[in-house]
Amino acid sequence: MTSPTPVRTRIAPSPTGFLHLGTARTALYSWAYARHHGGRFVLRIEDTDVARSTQDSVQQILDSMRWLGLDCDEGPIYQMQRLARYHAVVEQMIAAGTAYRCWCTPDELDAMREAQRARGEKTRYDGRWRPAPGKVLPPVPAPASGVKPVVRFANPERGTVTWDDLVKGPISISNEEIDDLIILRPDGVPTYNFAVVVDDWDMGITHVFRGDEHINNTPWQINIFRALGAPLPQFGHCPIILGEDGLKLSKRRGAVSVTAYEEMGYLPEAMLNYLARLGWSHGDDELFSREQMVQWFDGSHLAKSPAQWDPAKLAWVNAHYIKQADDGRLAALAAQQLARRGVIVEPADSLVPACTLYKDRCSTVVELADWIEIMFADVQPRAEDLAAHVTEPVRPALQDLRERLTHIDWERTTIAQTMKDVLAQHQLKMPQLAPALRVLVCGRPQTPSIDAVLALFPRATVLHRLRAV
Ligand code: GLU
Repeated sequence: MTSPTPVRTRIAPSPTGFLHLGTARTALYSWAYARHHGGRFVLRIEDTDVARSTQDSVQQILDSMRWLGLDCDEGPIYQMQRLARYHAVVEQMIAAGTAYRCWCTPDELDAMREAQRARGEKTRYDGRWRPAPGKVLPPVPAPASGVKPVVRFANPERGTVTWDDLVKGPISISNEEIDDLIILRPDGVPTYNFAVVVDDWDMGITHVFRGDEHINNTPWQINIFRALGAPLPQFGHCPIILGEDGLKLSKRRGAVSVTAYEEMGYLPEAMLNYLARLGWSHGDDELFSREQMVQWFDGSHLAKSPAQWDPAKLAWVNAHYIKQADDGRLAALAAQQLARRGVIVEPADSLVPACTLYKDRCSTVVELADWIEIMFADVQPRAEDLAAHVTEPVRPALQDLRERLTHIDWERTTIAQTMKDVLAQHQLKMPQLAPALRVLVCGRPQTPSIDAVLALFPRATVLHRLRAV
């Protein structure tokens, strides 16, 4: 898919909540498409829903984009700072006859819909203020009435809007299905379908990737582009993401903000990889870097049907990236997780050996922090683990080991040798001693190699946890 004009894509979130996974995915596709073509990626904040837009949401969106590494070349551009431009375009359209003022009150519109329902018709604006040759319009209410007009787009009454969707293929919607939508509210704030067109036009957007909940808006937008004589971008509507239960992923079902995944211990490269694959494929590749994605993402191979969120697969992808991650980086992330739990570790670098040891068995940084926390917080072995592993035959060996551990060099090889000596002395086998040590020192019967685990701990902590045997 090559484009004669330089590729420009955008993501246009509304700051009425956190950045959803679905929006993050379309942001990723838009970003990757721009990067693939050496184009530009724009961030626009669609804040025209003044009552619901918050600065906090803007910040969350910016933080999420930064965390995912989706760097934008332009923006953030705020729609509420562009009101004058929308007003100017509205005036041009009114002058050109492609938009008109409508003074219908909410009561009148209700009555209109009621009457349509009573006649068994689809409810729609009936065009009563739409100018037409020879048509007498209702009288404009006196200013004293306080009724303020909206501006409506004069949608073409006949014909069909057709586009070749980058994701879904050809789509056609008849103009008879859609009515004259409001483009400017009485308070002078534009509606989404109008502002989005003026912006995509002004910002030279060539490709729009967004969620398929917008498919029904696209015919209006295409008609407005045409009314303005503006070049049409190409549209690609990505299917929604389904939750594990097969229903739409929503606030009530599963975490859906990007920042929540950061807090749950996922790495941004894992999120990007997983989100990219959720609705797009490159052969059988499941694991790929950001650079590979940019190289491969040409807008083809986008899935037409909804993808299902699969936490187990995400965990698998994350585990892969945790294994690959630099241990110093993991140590800093684990220290952040621990700080949230009130465990302050300084310097974070002191956790590097623990990360090296534990990272292979962790699918999130939270799990890594769980392992590391054992070194700092008091452990409470479960009674059944104590009963199963800290048995009478093992106790004398544990006491002996504790005694010997007080005066050896505190490193893995000497700890291992001391354990061997104790086993020989007490005629025990490692599978008897090791689980007992694990339960007492780590509070759980399974850990990586116990000599390596013990070497991570300060000697005093180990001696303290073995004191009661
Ligand atoms: N503000 C819209 C949304 O968040 C943008 C849709 C679009 O990309 O056109 O859904």
